[in-house]
Amino acid sequence: MKPFYLTTPLYYVNAKPHIGHAYTNILCDTFARWRRFRGQKVHFLTGTDEHGTKIEKAARAEGKEPRQYVDGMVPQFESLWELLGIRYDDFIRTTEERHKQEVANVLRDLEARGEIYKAGYKGSYCTPCESFWTPLQLAEGKCPDCGREVQELAEENYFFRLSKYRDWLVSFIKDHPGFIRPEIRANEILGFLREPLEDLCITRPRARLAWGIDYPSSREHVVYVWFDALINYVSAVGCTTEEKKFKTYWPADIHVVGKDILRQHAVYWPIMLKALGLEMPRTILAHGWWTMAGAKVSKSRGNAVDPVELCKKYGVDAFRYFLLNEVTVGQDGAFSEDLLAERYTTDLANGLGNLWFRFASMLEKYFQKRIPQLAPEDLKEIKEAESTFYDLWQMVKQKMDQWDPRGALNIIWDVVTWCDGVIEDNKPWVLAKDPTKEKDLRKIMFILGENLAHVACLLQPFLPKTAEQILSRLGLKPPIRVENDGDFSKLFLLPDTLVERGGALFPRLDEEK
Ligand SMILES: [Zn+2]
Repeated sequence: MKPFYLTTPLYYVNAKPHIGHAYTNILCDTFARWRRFRGQKVHFLTGTDEHGTKIEKAARAEGKEPRQYVDGMVPQFESLWELLGIRYDDFIRTTEERHKQEVANVLRDLEARGEIYKAGYKGSYCTPCESFWTPLQLAEGKCPDCGREVQELAEENYFFRLSKYRDWLVSFIKDHPGFIRPEIRANEILGFLREPLEDLCITRPRARLAWGIDYPSSREHVVYVWFDALINYVSAVGCTTEEKKFKTYWPADIHVVGKDILRQHAVYWPIMLKALGLEMPRTILAHGWWTMAGAKVSKSRGNAVDPVELCKKYGVDAFRYFLLNEVTVGQDGAFSEDLLAERYTTDLANGLGNLWFRFASMLEKYFQKRIPQLAPEDLKEIKEAESTFYDLWQMVKQKMDQWDPRGALNIIWDVVTWCDGVIEDNKPWVLAKDPTKEKDLRKIMFILGENLAHVACLLQPFLPKTAEQILSRLGLKPPIRVENDGDFSKLFLLPDTLVERGGALFPRLDEEK
């Protein structure tokens, strides 16, 4: 079986990482862990996009050389991924030699295929915005973005023949439902493709921008940053230099991107691959934005929420849980710390954390911390209930097949709620007082333990640390893989195993202070 190859966008290093970056990587990490949990080999690629005018400007603003600046920014991303438990297999920087060499090879190939031409370009240029505008776009002769004066500029640049592939791309998207997800985004791209496509200017004159990858056939030009960055998805797996590696991984199974960069990924990128004669990725998944007070969370709007601070306060798993559970992938989410604190208390501290505490405390009190032995007829009855675990597995699997971690978490939390109901309905503390009910007490505790073990098993891709804690405390050996349906529907617990209650999985927020 081909390894599951998934990618995050390359993050632009002109500012430190915020909650939007954290969300994308937590989503990808959950998908990657889910596949490993299913016994599949995974290749998880992330990295940083380090060229272009904005980086050059950000560097100059700090009195640094661009190289020195990007070298200082990249560790902030790496350390956040470490903190969040993001288990990637490769981290590519667009300033690495391996990438630059692949980009040059790709460009030579496209030139040889006649996909690139050189042309003069004339337009109105706004220097502060670094944007070219056509006469129609100008607002009363001024920059439509900032309202400042524009300069007339004529340049020669290299152009990629995007326009000739429009009809092909429209048919491809229509013939491959699920290529762009969610469907609403596929329709948006098809809507965009109703207008003619313009060829893509893929260079910048070196005189105007020095911080870029050299254009192979002209010393006067550097490569446009988007064109260079997209190539990372194939350059990282050795597209033009490592045939065997490339064949092992390509095509990517999924590119996860934010909806703001969907056009580059769902229009430019498929056409670049088509022009190169390469296979299409299987899925491009566009997620929504996190908003605060209705505005997109980003550094430039000054409303960034620091993921490091949130993790320190609530724990990494709680942060992961919130982002994965709060919105369905594709939709926008409203972030507020109050909401995070509320979910922490209701779902985690009072939900899963309290369930574990009650179970382990009762086990300690009634069975000297040991998983009880069951009477043969009870064991038979519980074994017959294995079909419930089978159903649970099918439901969670179906959600994950649809890239829906929120749906999966909802199903898992239904089990937590169900267990709370079992405790309330059967009142083990009453059973414990009546020696004739000992057999019932054993059965209830066994059922609770089994359900907790199955919940923890399912939570491994989502809340890795919490899942590992619960499984270890139950005397099981994480990681537990579920390669076949039967791996999940069996009973996990061994009677007489010593169970450790341990500290609170999710300490109450007031206690923590
Ligand atoms: Zn402007």
